[in-house]
Amino acid sequence: MSITRDDALAWIKAVAGVINTNSTYLTQLDAAIGDADHGANMDRGFKAVLNKMPEISDKDIGTIFKTTGMTLISTVGGAGGPLYGTFFLQAGTKTVGKMELSLSDWAEALESALSGVLMRGKAELGDKTMVDALTPAVNALKQAIKDNQPINKALGLSAEAAKAGMEGTIPLVARKGRASYLGERSAGHQDPGATSTYLILNAAAETWKEVA
Ligand code: ADP
Ligand code: MG
Repeated sequence: MSITRDDALAWIKAVAGVINTNSTYLTQLDAAIGDADHGANMDRGFKAVLNKMPEISDKDIGTIFKTTGMTLISTVGGAGGPLYGTFFLQAGTKTVGKMELSLSDWAEALESALSGVLMRGKAELGDKTMVDALTPAVNALKQAIKDNQPINKALGLSAEAAKAGMEGTIPLVARKGRASYLGERSAGHQDPGATSTYLILNAAAETWKEVA
């Protein structure tokens, strides 16, 4: 049961694709409670990531993730760049030297990514940020492992938890990031960062559903 280096690369490519497809949507969500750049930011970042991939496509998974993180930090502005940069850098630090990941390795990488985002952004659960999609996704993954679920089922449950967390941001009042400037008026809108996190994790579930 393992996610190979090629699977990791396929996921990064799938993320670039899904972010590109949803770029306008993410920017529209950010227009409601932020500054209308989240989709454009992420799309610019992942386009740059795609350009880097040929240079490192024979490298280990940690290098693939770390290069993704460094590229996002240098190309995506705002809050999203450093936060997603940290996400991938931390996932890369956990997977350094690995040419394949077990489901537990992936859960550890994702947990590390979450810790990095929490440390960097200081958001708490319920602050209406990407943390609200990422935290339940990590928890669902760990629970699925405890329950001995097969990899595709575990990844599916993790993506579903991210989706529920994303939808759960709608009624929340933002307490971090630009949306917090709106105070109560931020309620009633889905958080753009939680939405991109769901898209990223759903891309993992879809890309890796044949992994056994
Ligand atoms: P900016 O807000 O600088 O324009 P983006 O629009 O790219 O950056 O990203 C906005 C998203 O970043 C928000 O929807 C939220 O999910 C996430 N975010 C903002 N601040 C934080 C934080 N302190 N911790 C975690 N996530 C945050
Ligand atoms: Mg923005």
